[in-house]
Amino acid sequence: MTQYVLSPLAPTTLPIVGTDAVFPIRRVFCVGRNYGLHVKEMGGDPKEQPPLFFTKPADAVMGPGGAVPYPVATADFQHEIELVVALKAGGSDLAPADVAELIFGYAAGVDLTRRDLQGAAKASGQPWDSGKAFDASAPVGAILPADQAGDLAGAITLSVNGELRQSGLLSDMIWSVAEVVAEASKLWRLAAGDVIFTGTPSGVGPMARGDQVVGKIEGVGEVAFTVV
Ligand code: MN
Repeated sequence: MTQYVLSPLAPTTLPIVGTDAVFPIRRVFCVGRNYGLHVKEMGGDPKEQPPLFFTKPADAVMGPGGAVPYPVATADFQHEIELVVALKAGGSDLAPADVAELIFGYAAGVDLTRRDLQGAAKASGQPWDSGKAFDASAPVGAILPADQAGDLAGAITLSVNGELRQSGLLSDMIWSVAEVVAEASKLWRLAAGDVIFTGTPSGVGPMARGDQVVGKIEGVGEVAFTVV
């Protein structure tokens, strides 16, 4: 039996609607741009570029009900509400038509961003990790099993202290869930436990300590946290 010099870490998990069992997270992938209006507000052309992927560490995921600490090293801490896809199986070089049977479920998540650090990284051609892959940067709500989810075409919204900040439609995604997973599988061999953030609609903006943030996705669920 292997003897570890440190206690092996238990996986980060997310609760699942309708059961006490939990979903163990393997990896976290994110799409950098996937809604036309958000691409335009960030200065891009939605039709020109393929999906842009980046990653966060699995232990950046925060389950429901948590307080999110205002992160160090930023003065521009921003929210991005996103549909999160949780995989129960994977593969590589998948076709979009192969994807549905690999999906365990869906959740609402927020891709928290140190926008000033991301902007500096973009400007100097450096990786985005400091802007995107920091501690507690991925609050996610409970996972709704795929067979209970709606048609994934409804409203995706985020409010801060009751004020609506982001509002879009899942049907406005440039690449569908199936296309996002298929594109990711061209770059990585996806596996059970992988979760994918599928991009955010327009209206991203800054948060301050004390802000109460609520994201909702029609037919999927919600994610809520307080910045502390
Ligand atoms: Mn994002």
